[in-house]
Amino acid sequence: MTVEKSFPAMGTVHTITIFDAEGPQAANDARAYLLRLNRAWSCFRADSLISRINRAAGTEPVAVDEDTFAVLQQTRRYGGLTDGAFDVTVGPLAQLWREAMEQRRLPADGDVWQALGLVDWQGVLLDDEGQRVMLRRPGQRIDLGGIAKGYAADGLSKLLREHGVRQALLDLGGTVSTLGCRLPVGVRNPFHPGGAPMGTLMLEDRTVVTSGVYERFAWLDGHRYHHIIDPRSGYPSKSGLVSVTLVGENGAALDALATAALILGPEQSMPLLRAQSIDTVFVTERGQVLITRDLKNEFRLTNKTNTMSDVQVSVA
Ligand code: ADP
Ligand code: MG
Repeated sequence: MTVEKSFPAMGTVHTITIFDAEGPQAANDARAYLLRLNRAWSCFRADSLISRINRAAGTEPVAVDEDTFAVLQQTRRYGGLTDGAFDVTVGPLAQLWREAMEQRRLPADGDVWQALGLVDWQGVLLDDEGQRVMLRRPGQRIDLGGIAKGYAADGLSKLLREHGVRQALLDLGGTVSTLGCRLPVGVRNPFHPGGAPMGTLMLEDRTVVTSGVYERFAWLDGHRYHHIIDPRSGYPSKSGLVSVTLVGENGAALDALATAALILGPEQSMPLLRAQSIDTVFVTERGQVLITRDLKNEFRLTNKTNTMSDVQVSVA
């Protein structure tokens, strides 16, 4: 018996499909888990744990649940590994650019500088014993948007296995995991306005995450701006990459590193990704598709829907 459940959370739609008899109960618990993370982590809810930590920045530590503590530990790890390209304290900058895109005008340089001065992942202070979190300086803000779905995919896979589920497909707004089965997953064409796939990846007991500059963007003063912010400049990333798709086993790692790779570009991110045994499909702004050798047999271009003028697939 197959059970499929869809519901909104984390600003997107999540779909869980379970192919086992344990389906109904497991799907209910899975939904409850995701809604719980959403309640704890949303920056749009004043009563979320993250909002409380942000309000208490520079003042006092806040006691948090296990998942929140664990995800923040991971953000420190990937902050360090990417030399701060992935920075969970990007909050003030992310908000500035979100407002700029809504109001369709560029932020003032002074505002960018001010926000940039607050961005520092090493200011997330974690007290292991008390499971408490504090931001070092007033005004600092955590934004889990770059890692939440990947972490949630890991947590859900664990939860489903504990329920005895053997075969399932998780789709958390484009972050996809297959459990105990081999299924084709669409990879979006970053140049197609409707989001048609440019190809498919066969996925067996792995997770795939895509970060793209096409997700949320706006034209300001004749330039295209988007929601992935380079913490070195304070401006949306300009690495020449338009989308990064990563395949591996650890969803939180994939999510954080996809965001970072989009900022760092292929040359700087490739060694890091290789060291973590992560496979990649990079798409450059010129329409080149760069994939790692291990994906050669797993990735297929979809010719019919391909709108990239002269696609060149190179294997790294
Ligand atoms: P998606 O577009 O699927 O939500 P991403 O994983 O690419 O996913 O995350 C983008 C989100 O991450 C932004 O909306 C913002 O909240 C946050 N973010 C932006 N820049 C950074 C950064 N340099 N480091 C960490 N998080 C970031
Ligand atoms: Mg990410």
